[in-house]
Amino acid sequence: MKKTRSRVLYYSAIGLCVVSAVVLGSRFLAEIAWGNWLQLCLFGALAAFLHARTVKLENQMNYSLGTAVVFPVIYLYGPGAGILISMLAGLVDSLAHKKNIDRTLFNMAQLSLSSIVCGSIYAGLGGAFGFELSINDVWAMLLGGLGYIGTNVSLVTVMASIAQGGGFRTRIRHQLRTIDNDLVAGFWGIVFTLFVAHYSTWGIVLLGLVFVQFSRFIEMGIRMSIERRMRQELERELLIDTKTGVYNFRYLNEWLSNPVVEPTAVLFIDIDDFKVFNDRHGHAVGDQVLVSLAQLIRSVIRAGDKVIRYGGEEFVVLLPNMTRAGAVQVARRIQSSLRNVSFARPGETITVSIGIAVCPEDTRDKHHLLGLADQAMYEAKRLGKDCFQAWSDTAACHSV
Ligand code: GH3
Ligand code: MG
Ligand code: MG
Repeated sequence: MKKTRSRVLYYSAIGLCVVSAVVLGSRFLAEIAWGNWLQLCLFGALAAFLHARTVKLENQMNYSLGTAVVFPVIYLYGPGAGILISMLAGLVDSLAHKKNIDRTLFNMAQLSLSSIVCGSIYAGLGGAFGFELSINDVWAMLLGGLGYIGTNVSLVTVMASIAQGGGFRTRIRHQLRTIDNDLVAGFWGIVFTLFVAHYSTWGIVLLGLVFVQFSRFIEMGIRMSIERRMRQELERELLIDTKTGVYNFRYLNEWLSNPVVEPTAVLFIDIDDFKVFNDRHGHAVGDQVLVSLAQLIRSVIRAGDKVIRYGGEEFVVLLPNMTRAGAVQVARRIQSSLRNVSFARPGETITVSIGIAVCPEDTRDKHHLLGLADQAMYEAKRLGKDCFQAWSDTAACHSV
């Protein structure tokens, strides 16, 4: 919110929300039946607890059962009580998640407005506030619940697009990603209403305890999935070469230490005269060559094949279930593709020498296999570079 214009818009929108909530809500607040203070306190405590336990998943994605508590309050004790609980929920949510004063006011106002819309739809469809519920009331509850969720999502979306930009459409798409959570909370809100209508205060206590336990499960599940994803990302990062984006030596070590031996062809690739290239064009341009070469190799192999930066300017390619003839084709493709790419300046190309070894024909031992591909690469260097050499070959070096 850098621009003054959007700042003015932001505060005006919050002001509008708060004023509407106060003007529309004050009439309902005056109608609260305080004789139900014990039940309202129980609902208040439950709403506060569930909103404080809202789990944040990525930015702007919140999971909470808090919404479920507002519905029985609205339908059984009237919109005024719903507004009261909503304001409390908005306040607790803001305090628990350290939101600033403008967001706190907006939170309280938007939840109150959602309760007003919900109560008005319910009453408009003939729903009777109180404990005598008919089947028609259930339909009115469903539509009232949709009104609550719709108002909530719309207000948050408008506010987020004003505060953070990105356009209303992008924001609404973002918001709709968690709509299933709102709908589930709405469904439980109606179940809660029916339960309390039947069991009264004990209903609040019993289903409230179930909700508290539920929220623990939700929190645990989400935290576990976040941690699992972070661990997977970390593990992946540990196996990736930061310079070129292909696998690193650690990945190769894992492959080598895995006792399962499958038919695999290995290419050992080394850039020719790279020291001279670096001396002529500098290390930074040399680094660019490594990145481009890694991409080029990736572009000529299959999805399941693996490119590994073995060391400085050496790459290993693992080609599962590939014959020697197939590996030769890949080596040819790499070398011929390189002829069409200029580095440092137009017309300047680089070349590579490639050694090939195949499991199980050449050896069944992975370390040995890699050693044979390395030796074949040195043989290609000895025979004049810019060519490939398969381990079993005794013939002269092959080039494209
Ligand atoms: P040959 O054809 O025999 O392979 O000659 P060469 O110059 O490529 O081989 P040598 O092993 O003598 O040198 C490898 C060079 O690769 C030396 C070093 O400057 C360069 N090199 C290694 N790692 C990097 C890197 O990360 N970035 C850059 N730019 N150069 C690197
Ligand atoms: Mg080398
Ligand atoms: Mg080299």
